[in-house]
Amino acid sequence: MKKDIIPIKEKSTGYYMRAALRYAKKAADEGEVPVGAVVVYAGHIIAGGRNRRENGRNALYHAELEAIDKACKRLGGWRLFDCDMYVTLEPCPMCAGALINSRMRRVYIGAADSKAGCFGSIADMNTLGFNHKPEIVFGVLEEECSGILKEFFRGLRERKKEKRTAEE
Ligand SMILES: [Zn+2]
Repeated sequence: MKKDIIPIKEKSTGYYMRAALRYAKKAADEGEVPVGAVVVYAGHIIAGGRNRRENGRNALYHAELEAIDKACKRLGGWRLFDCDMYVTLEPCPMCAGALINSRMRRVYIGAADSKAGCFGSIADMNTLGFNHKPEIVFGVLEEECSGILKEFFRGLRERKKEKRTAEE
């Protein structure tokens, strides 16, 4: 336990997922696919991240990696085994790997990802025999987490349609 972080009573899973959703909304405002993540330690949100692939022009700029990076810096080490992540969308293979490598204790997931999810949808990294298996909890604020994605893609389609109509 880090000495400068005084433990507080854990809040509800919805409370922490709403914080992850705020990061996702920020991503949407920036024109990014809205995915957000926070890391919780001793009841505190110690780090957060959002998807920034487009503006950062980098395939590695996923919400989970940003949150893990900040959490390691905050705690001064790479082992996050007393930490839990709340992420609005099921992690991709890269982020699922990072969650295993950082020894994350538990991962709370909002929406499943049928296109890239690696904790059950496309594959389940926890069945592959790695030496660390984060505990996975699906369905925290699932509607809100999938809703923000649906809304984003609907907006994208509408803007494309408007553009087409304007060009005709
Ligand atoms: Zn990812």
